[in-house]
Amino acid sequence: MDLRTIWSKMLKLLESSVAQATFEAYIKPMTPHSFENDVFYLKTPDDFHKPTIVKRYMYYIKDSLSTVMGNNGLDVRIISPEDLTESGPNRRKHDNYTKTNLRHHYVFESFVEGKCNQLAFAAAQAVAETLGTTGYNPLFLYGGVGLGKTHLLHSIGNQVVEQNPDLKVRYISSETFTNEFVTAIREQTALQFKFKYRDCDLFLIDDVQFLEGKDGTQEEMFHTFNDIYSNNKQIVITSDLPPNKLTGLEERLTSRFAMGLQVDITMPDYETRAAILEKKLHREQIDIPVQVKEFILRNVVSNIRDLEGALNKITAYARLSKVPISLDLAETALKDQLKGHIPPVITVPYIQKIVSAHFKLTPEELNSRRRTQKIVFPRQIAMYLCRKLLEVSLPDVGNFFGGFDHTTVIHSCDKIANELEYDEKLRETVAELERTIKGE
Ligand code: ADP
Ligand code: MG
Repeated sequence: MDLRTIWSKMLKLLESSVAQATFEAYIKPMTPHSFENDVFYLKTPDDFHKPTIVKRYMYYIKDSLSTVMGNNGLDVRIISPEDLTESGPNRRKHDNYTKTNLRHHYVFESFVEGKCNQLAFAAAQAVAETLGTTGYNPLFLYGGVGLGKTHLLHSIGNQVVEQNPDLKVRYISSETFTNEFVTAIREQTALQFKFKYRDCDLFLIDDVQFLEGKDGTQEEMFHTFNDIYSNNKQIVITSDLPPNKLTGLEERLTSRFAMGLQVDITMPDYETRAAILEKKLHREQIDIPVQVKEFILRNVVSNIRDLEGALNKITAYARLSKVPISLDLAETALKDQLKGHIPPVITVPYIQKIVSAHFKLTPEELNSRRRTQKIVFPRQIAMYLCRKLLEVSLPDVGNFFGGFDHTTVIHSCDKIANELEYDEKLRETVAELERTIKGE
């Protein structure tokens, strides 16, 4: 497909998702300029409309283009006439913008707020509004993969650049930081590298857990952090764990990371997942049966990236096989992805596997006749759970565990049942094991 075909297909897609007046005024007058390195450049006929397009419609444009081109990793940049003149007054601003490394489609407007991310969302907005003066410095956002940390990080940057193009904003993933640092050492340009990131008003560092165990890079990050921080400039950091759990990072670094505000993002609950799914469906003008929505929401609970992935997979399946989206199709499309989530069939060996893994034993050890407390206790718990969760006879349980007498099984189950009465820690352990076994 050439650029014009892509563009006209994308116009068709977008026309129905934004208001007619908006479409006519902002979207339609643009023309495709080029496509390079996964970035689609669009030209606006004047300088006046660009800020609004970037702020309000970028996400829609990016999404429709991704759909048309079947490329989820692409980015979109808008070029105004000013950007194209070498000496235009905005040339510097434009240069500045391109140096930020920001992904323009990650903006606050497209972020759905829910219980799981409420505080993080509010803190990110506060920081974007007041840079360096909130006392939230650094702002440290942490949580598992696919929960929106990177999205929020870019949103802060995009809002700041949008409101004040003169400010220097730098986004960097810790992986890129590491690679650039290693290259700088190799090519003996470490000195230049030192200044590359220190001179900025807003420094956005993604995934600092990546620096674990990389001492040289950590040292460089430490000095970079100190320089920026002591100039009262804002720093925002993301990570999968809170600072005090990042055991592979030097203490002097984690203690600095912990100086400001730490906020976690947790797994999205059903309502948040539903809101995000609805927003995406609306944006992409996709209509799917209620049962399919319900199916996705009930099954893809891990994170939002997976949720988006699941929907993309289903729509792609429907497109390729030229059939409407149905529950059957959704189940087929997500078969592989959901393997781990479908409640397991509970059997004695399955319980043995979960319990032994929990106590860092092998199932063979659990079933051996050894009498060390390290093995006896987990075995008693496993037997207790077998009796509780399955209808297996006492002799059968004994056999499954390598040939114990049924009286041993009774003794084990009674002992655990008794201890559960007063040992709260054991209650928690057993409850957790039960949840794992049931796949909850
Ligand atoms: P993380 O950096 O935490 O691994 P990302 O920021 O990359 O996660 O998010 C994964 C995907 O989910 C992205 O496409 C992002 O836009 C989307 N996403 C995450 N959280 C939200 C949210 N609250 N609202 C809308 N989209 C979200
Ligand atoms: Mg991320």
